[in-house]
Amino acid sequence: MDQSYQFGIDILAIVAIVQFLFGAAAVWLFAGPAKPQVVADSGDNAEMEALKEKQREDSKKIQEAMQQVYRLTGRIGHDVGEHNARVKQINEELSGAAVEGSVDLEAAVLAAVSKVTQANEQLQNELRSAEAKLAEQAAALQSQMEMARTDALTGALNRRAFDDEIQRRVSEFQRYRTPVSLLLFDIDHFKKFNDTYGHQTGDDVLCHVACTLSMVMRDVDLVCRYGGEEFAVILPATEAPGAILAAERARTAIERMLVEVSGQQLKVTCSGGIAEALPGEDAESIIARADQGLYASKKAGRNCVHLHDGKNLVKHGGEPTAAPAKTEPKSAERAINEKDPLHALPNREAFAEDVRRRVEQHHKYQAPVTILYCGVDQFASITSRHGHEAGNVVLRAVAQFLKSLLRDQEMLARVDDDRFAIVLAGVTSGEAMQKVERIRQAVEKCKLPFDGLADLHFTASFGLAEIARCDDAGALMNRGQEAFETAAESGNKVHAQQAPVFAA
Ligand code: GH3
Ligand code: MG
Ligand code: MG
Repeated sequence: MDQSYQFGIDILAIVAIVQFLFGAAAVWLFAGPAKPQVVADSGDNAEMEALKEKQREDSKKIQEAMQQVYRLTGRIGHDVGEHNARVKQINEELSGAAVEGSVDLEAAVLAAVSKVTQANEQLQNELRSAEAKLAEQAAALQSQMEMARTDALTGALNRRAFDDEIQRRVSEFQRYRTPVSLLLFDIDHFKKFNDTYGHQTGDDVLCHVACTLSMVMRDVDLVCRYGGEEFAVILPATEAPGAILAAERARTAIERMLVEVSGQQLKVTCSGGIAEALPGEDAESIIARADQGLYASKKAGRNCVHLHDGKNLVKHGGEPTAAPAKTEPKSAERAINEKDPLHALPNREAFAEDVRRRVEQHHKYQAPVTILYCGVDQFASITSRHGHEAGNVVLRAVAQFLKSLLRDQEMLARVDDDRFAIVLAGVTSGEAMQKVERIRQAVEKCKLPFDGLADLHFTASFGLAEIARCDDAGALMNRGQEAFETAAESGNKVHAQQAPVFAA
């Protein structure tokens, strides 16, 4: 009886979690963020249609998951109702026997107890299966909601997340006067990368731009893919002068970035628009002003940024006369001093704790778990040749690429000076392999957009291990580390360590 009571509590807890998720998803789906009407490049209708189609697909998947949760919670109610009816019937049979007094009361009680035990067991089995299914659905719902905020190609936040965030930040500004600024960037002549080198190269350029933007922005800034080759950066607690510095830092970093394609090094530039939220203005208006700044930068010859200050457009960068040379990062050290996200990463203990938690979940619900270790090849020789600061720049670049693998609930940990690790929940090592291989290639092609480091080539090695039936957290981490050691032996490799096979 105690056990079934405990089950009831478990089920109530899970139903509560699912209902919370359900409520969050419903608010997000049906109330939804207001959609800004302004599109930085309104010419590309096909692109906007594709984006809307993707959003419709996301909504459909979440709605399907929600309907399944509905059905399951309905079934639990039905099962519990049936159980109550069964127990009531047994109770009536027993009372009948006692009143008639004609049957052996002891035998009747024993038969009733056995029936109640059977009914309890049946309910427990039904609840157990419902519990597993509900947890599975809750995980699917959570993961759909997280994926729906991330751009799959670049790992940046997507347009939907941008729409949500800009609305929220501008409302906060109107209520509490917490400043917020917006940068819009559009890659110059991006079509030529697609037309000359193919769509894959175009995609590589997009990934490099997203990576560079994330590297030069602060941790609190939100880097979003706004449309095809357009990026938006929301700068919380930032007024126009700070936004100009950030925009120029991003523009010059992208200008210095090189994308390697079949031995050739491609240069990329972008144009930008800047706007700081003004009293009384809504999100649509700040986006429209940043967009006007972007348009002015294109008209002025590209590779520059314009601030829209509410009345006028003011140009920054691009030409020697207007370039605020004093504000540019002149060296790797300078860039590092401005932001070092490496210090903020969770450590080895936090990672081990995360692995333990996921392994426990695996043994309960059988969802796959894969762990990834990644280290910079020849890291000691990079720091001895180029210095400690250069080593940090390399680590930040690799960390940034790895972040594109993460969903909202997942974390990138720094488990050693030159080594990172991630727990990929719900993913098999086969599924992870392809994505990790793309990251290996992106790291290989990455050129650092800082003075004195442009000729610094670096690669990384990756080890993957998927959980096996008998694994505990320690065994899984050991296999991940072995996989990494194997990959690092030759360097610039992805290696997946097979699970040991035990005789039945
Ligand atoms: P401008 O300097 O005026 O911005 O010129 P542009 O060539 O960058 O701009 P345009 O709007 O003419 O072309 C953008 C191209 O970006 C068109 C579209 O096919 C391409 N594109 C959009 N999304 C993607 C993507 O995800 N991957 C790739 N490879 N190309 C994309
Ligand atoms: Mg464009
Ligand atoms: Mg463009």
